[in-house]
Amino acid sequence: MKKTYLLTPGPTPVPPDVLLEMAEPMIHHRTKEYQAYFQEATRLLQLVFQTQREVLTLTSSGTGAMEAAVANLLAAGQQAIVVRGGKFGERWGELCEAYGVRVVPIDVSWGRAVDPAAVQQALAKHPDTRAVFATLCETSTGVVSDVRAIAGVVAKTSAVLVVDAISGLGADELQTDAWGVDVVVAGSQKGLMLPPGLSFITLSDKAWQLVAAHKPIAYYFNLLAYRKAMQTSDTPFTPAISLVRGLGKALRWIEREGLPAVLARHRRLAEGVRAGTLGMRLQLFAAQPSNALTAIAMPAGVDGERLVRWLRDRFGVWLAEGQAELKGKIVRVAHLGYMTEADMLVALSSLELGLQALGHSVTLGTGVRAAEEVFGRP
Ligand SMILES: *Cc1c(COP(=O)(O)O)cnc(C)c1O
Repeated sequence: MKKTYLLTPGPTPVPPDVLLEMAEPMIHHRTKEYQAYFQEATRLLQLVFQTQREVLTLTSSGTGAMEAAVANLLAAGQQAIVVRGGKFGERWGELCEAYGVRVVPIDVSWGRAVDPAAVQQALAKHPDTRAVFATLCETSTGVVSDVRAIAGVVAKTSAVLVVDAISGLGADELQTDAWGVDVVVAGSQKGLMLPPGLSFITLSDKAWQLVAAHKPIAYYFNLLAYRKAMQTSDTPFTPAISLVRGLGKALRWIEREGLPAVLARHRRLAEGVRAGTLGMRLQLFAAQPSNALTAIAMPAGVDGERLVRWLRDRFGVWLAEGQAELKGKIVRVAHLGYMTEADMLVALSSLELGLQALGHSVTLGTGVRAAEEVFGRP
């Protein structure tokens, strides 16, 4: 018998009532019935994004909303500052380059968070910058950025701050309005507990002014069209009807628990996994670790890819391996969305056994015990 424990930082498990909602017979989207689902989902998105602005829903994976941000805010030849401290920061740079945007990179060594002062210096050196691209949780390294401080720096200039919160939203604190984050993008398959297929974007007045000031190169991702359609609770193209229905259900889980409690739960799971990592004498890869996932540095002689494969084959436990330059060097445990303390104990105990099976000397129970001490607190 095989049972699967999906503990990856996207996709993440989907609650059963959300799965059932998405299995309901198809309805047409130009109906009052669908509009009610869409309006409810949009209201709940505002709660999770901590914003009063409209949050637009696109039918695409998270990268679609990233592309929409670049295509609508910038034209070829214009300049953007891109924080690159991992695979997803690099993606901002690649997207900008695809649109002919001139990129001023801020390269941060993988595992570290960008220093907001570096953003300030880059802005001072390049005053014609239109946008700064950053990442809340850099999923490839497990690092969380100080978005609040970066927003404070960018707000003093004519540039807008664009934050990829695809994996961080609902796990790491992000106060879109209070911190003055101009553009936030997210995706459905991480903290929002849905299958992949939806992405989200919200823009400040300052950002909408930039959008209005140039003719977007985008057609499917022309955000002005989404904004206009939103006035009548509509979308310019056929929405992913079943996913939007599931979205309402999933976000009601967050509303019922309360966003502060949801964030506190992620913090607690993260603390447990970090304690467990240190308990089994391994090291955390991220200097500023996110509450969405923990990147565990592999000890000498242990190949992270082999370990991840072993855990899948032996226990049905799905962790994520390292990407790009971190291939084999780290293993990533998600504590994101529909996951619990019990899931983390499964991850840690199977990790102990996996390390042992791969020939690494580990005292069984030391990781689990350290996590239990965290989870045993009232
Ligand atoms: C998952 C993820 C993405 C990419 O999203 P897709 O849904 O695969 O397009 C982008 N940025 C971050 C930080 C992510 O975690």
